[in-house]
Amino acid sequence: MALLVQKYGGTSVGSAERIQAVARRVVAAADRGQKVCVVVSAMSHSTDELVDLAAQISSVPHPREMDMLLTSGERISMALLSMAIMELGREAISMTGSQAGIVTDTSHGRARIVEVRARRVLEALDEGKIVIVAGFQGVSTEYNITTLGRGGSDMTAVALAAELDADVCEIFTDVDGVFTADPRIVPEARQLHAVSYEEMLELSASGARVLQLRCVEYARNHGVLVHVRSSFNAEEGTWVREEDERMERAIISGIAHDTSEAKVTIVGVPDKPHVAARVFTPLAREGINVDMIVQNISTDGRTDISFTLPKDDLVRAKPLLDEVATGVGAREIQTDDSIGKVSLVGAGMKSHPGVAADMFEALGDAGINIEVISTSSIRISCIVRATDVEQAVKVVHKKFELPEEAVAREQHPATATDQIKALRPPQSDGEAAS
Ligand code: ADP
Ligand code: ASP
Ligand code: MG
Repeated sequence: MALLVQKYGGTSVGSAERIQAVARRVVAAADRGQKVCVVVSAMSHSTDELVDLAAQISSVPHPREMDMLLTSGERISMALLSMAIMELGREAISMTGSQAGIVTDTSHGRARIVEVRARRVLEALDEGKIVIVAGFQGVSTEYNITTLGRGGSDMTAVALAAELDADVCEIFTDVDGVFTADPRIVPEARQLHAVSYEEMLELSASGARVLQLRCVEYARNHGVLVHVRSSFNAEEGTWVREEDERMERAIISGIAHDTSEAKVTIVGVPDKPHVAARVFTPLAREGINVDMIVQNISTDGRTDISFTLPKDDLVRAKPLLDEVATGVGAREIQTDDSIGKVSLVGAGMKSHPGVAADMFEALGDAGINIEVISTSSIRISCIVRATDVEQAVKVVHKKFELPEEAVAREQHPATATDQIKALRPPQSDGEAAS
């Protein structure tokens, strides 16, 4: 019997009516003879509201208590959805992450799943029940409740899909799929039919929050087929899966932006061996993820090191950085949280020179100054002023936009400069729209 994991995001379960609509969709899937395991997020803005509440009580909330607080949001939606399904005459049971066997490491706020003991979920499914699991949470190897990082319900869904050997992991959200840019910023952005794990990894890492980064990594490592689609209609969305020859023809798959990072510059660092290690080791030990790193050419034996890190980690990073600056004899530390990152992602970029130059030209023509650049084989990222981010996304998208008629010429992509294109539909996979 086919097994389906469906995940519904915050907006999709944002009111009693929406929860009832989700219940109807879930029941319809079960009525087609499939076993259905559902993962839910907290209702709309409730996680943000809980974060704000905690901030009113404590400037640095205790990590264990913070996780206790935040996991309550998903408990509300799982119980309500379970009730709504029962109202439709189907048997359902809700489970917390812990009850569903999501076992994590001990790092509160960003715990990693170390094991999924899905016995209880499987038993309930075998008894014909629809199982509703609270997303974004687990229980640590030391028996504390943990959370999986913001957007972590996606992770719960993918991990369960892997463990249950689901045919597909459906991520229902408030847009129709993955687009060539955030459709809220670029209304003319185009929906991608399919995107490879590698491209989605880069898009998520660059800020396209439609799928949490870790869940894409997990899906790739476990070969989970992911289908991102709208919870408001029955249309097919975007498939995230192994790269194939159709995908390789796409030069640019999308543009992502991220305003959640801050820039730190350590000014006047002595230019000698081991200094970089002494700067970054304490941050790594504290679990702070450093992203773009640039070191200038040195003059008079001194250089500047700039890098970005999550704004949320600045408070924790500041004392460590002050200590590092004194330790290595740097002149000063500058922090700047008014920056944003704009990234161009595409697997075909590897073999097409000129993409970076075109991106810089688009930004330059719009009078947008680039402060830091970094690249991977399938991504180019530029740091710009936060106030320029939306305009930057728009002009870069426009620069690379492919006119519809040119899609037909995809067999002969002439240059690297002219392409954002949706991929051709994959072979039929038997997926029925619900
Ligand atoms: P959910 O609550 O369902 O998990 P999220 O807010 O986490 O939803 O993710 C969906 C949002 O991601 C969309 O509303 C959209 O604004 C944003 N987004 C950013 N980049 C993209 C993109 N490339 N394609 C689709 N959506 C994107
Ligand atoms: N409710 C959590 C968040 O807002 C998890 C999720 O929605 O995926 O980050
Ligand atoms: Mg999300």
